[in-house]
Amino acid sequence: MEPNSRDLESLWEFIHLITDKTRPDAATENAVAFIAESLNLGRLIGELQTKPTPINPNGYYEKTVFYTSDDGFTKENACSITYDVKEPGAVKLTAYSKPGSPIVNERQMVAVMELVNLAAESHFMVEKADRQSMTQFLTGLPNAGGYMREVSKKYQNRIADHYDAYYFNLIGFGLINKQYGQKQGDEIIKRYATFLRTSIEEDEIIGHLGGDNFVALIKQGENSQKFQKLIRSVDTYAERGKERIPITINAVAGMMTVEAMTPAEQIISGPAVACSFAKRTMNPLVVLDEELNDRINRRKVIEQEFEKALQNNEFTVFYQPKVNAYTGELIGAEALCRWFENGRMVPPGEFIPVLEDTYRIKHLDLAMIRLVCQDIAEWEKEGKVVPISVNVSRHDLLDKQLFEKIDAIIREYGISRDHIVIEITETSSDQERSLMMAFLSQLKESGIKSSIDDFGSGYSSLSVLREFPVNEIKLDRSFINKSLNKKDEIIIQSIIEMATKLDIDIIQEGVEVEQQKDFITQLGCFRIQGFLYSKPLPKVEYDKWVKAGKNPEL
Ligand code: C2E
Ligand code: MG
Ligand code: MG
Repeated sequence: MEPNSRDLESLWEFIHLITDKTRPDAATENAVAFIAESLNLGRLIGELQTKPTPINPNGYYEKTVFYTSDDGFTKENACSITYDVKEPGAVKLTAYSKPGSPIVNERQMVAVMELVNLAAESHFMVEKADRQSMTQFLTGLPNAGGYMREVSKKYQNRIADHYDAYYFNLIGFGLINKQYGQKQGDEIIKRYATFLRTSIEEDEIIGHLGGDNFVALIKQGENSQKFQKLIRSVDTYAERGKERIPITINAVAGMMTVEAMTPAEQIISGPAVACSFAKRTMNPLVVLDEELNDRINRRKVIEQEFEKALQNNEFTVFYQPKVNAYTGELIGAEALCRWFENGRMVPPGEFIPVLEDTYRIKHLDLAMIRLVCQDIAEWEKEGKVVPISVNVSRHDLLDKQLFEKIDAIIREYGISRDHIVIEITETSSDQERSLMMAFLSQLKESGIKSSIDDFGSGYSSLSVLREFPVNEIKLDRSFINKSLNKKDEIIIQSIIEMATKLDIDIIQEGVEVEQQKDFITQLGCFRIQGFLYSKPLPKVEYDKWVKAGKNPEL
């Protein structure tokens, strides 16, 4: 039989109703109501029963009435059908006819229930997709979106200011991944997440932003304090075959106390900033307070002002003499950058780390090399010159053309390669090591000298002496700063001896008092840089040293 246009229209309307994804919860009810009359349907109910779980030993039961006729219903002639649903459990649909009027056709009824089930399932899938888009796939914790949704509820209920907001990062998780493999790493993160989730109270929130980045909203006071202790070290285990290897996961965290006026956008970014500060300063926890906020704002100003300052020549070079402790003779100098911003001198400690973090440092370093080359050219003309060391940040190594750029500046000024030394701090990371190796080799090949700065401050090992083609190592201030025992002394002496035998010059920086000078010279290092001889000087002052070949006042 050909369907007439009214039938078709009705069919379309029915399909539209049953597949309405904008209101999935109403779709089933609307669709059933649409066809109920023609089926003599009195009532349609759905019952959801899930299997027991550890959290829910009785399982979960829910009864939904999809349709009730105004004419009532009778329990005779009931027709039931049960479906397994994807989540462990089952849905049972039962249809009752109107009193006195049996359901027209049982087969028709089953078909309708299939349709209803389809609608319910699509509803269920929409809900599930929604839930999934709000959770981190690995741990099932809320992701950034899910976390913010929960946070906004606290704002709506005006209780956000009862909480502290955290952002934390697992220390050395890369190493755990390396050691036990990515798959086991994932398992460890899952165990960690479960542990945290079960350690907090119901109204508190833990979120997983992915990787080893977590966030949390914890009640102020005792809970928050306990939480800080908790994340500092969590004991769990790694599995290798059947073996369980105990491991401890430590986190570094940033925290911000939420106030009624705190904008919701800052709930993640505020503590995140504090956390990155914590990492930089090797602190397990940093609280975002006014002082830190000022510092962060100051960083922003530096970032914004840097380019202009560079163009306006606000950066100048100061020179700190290096002296031969035996003869008092000037043997070189280190070029140190100074920023004069509106007449105020900004110390390098304030702007260099900012420029390093934002990969702007290279521009400053190249500008400094240019200024230094200019001065060297001048001293060469006057026939009085000692080598000048310029600092190059390790971050600059990421520029594969770094050497070529430095080389071009040196060529441009036509200075002797004997008069410039590139000073770079030691590194511990493998990747940087290979970049550093390549860079130092290029310098050596082209006849430019190099020096390892702050030697001994990090994880430097004797392999630096063996592997790197350097001309000088500069001993870190810590060698002479703290009280040293006999063992330390033996180690320093061996470093000095070894370097000397390998034809590597050795210099001690940061010497402030006679005693320190005596200590290090006795161990065999006679090249000294430090306040004992001179502070870093403006060029006009340092010129006097160059002319005299020693301290001009002596
Ligand atoms: P650095 O390269 O290790 O330079 C030595 C720092 O120690 C200088 O600090 C110097 O003024 C200071 N110093 C020298 N003698 C003494 C002493 O006897 N006692 C004490 N307490 N300190 C002494 P400054 O000039 O503040 O520079 C700090 C750091 O900033 C430098 O450490 C270097 O890492 C970086 N820096 C400075 N200029 C530049 C630059 O042009 N480029 C790059 N990339 N880094 C630079
Ligand atoms: Mg230096
Ligand atoms: Mg140094």
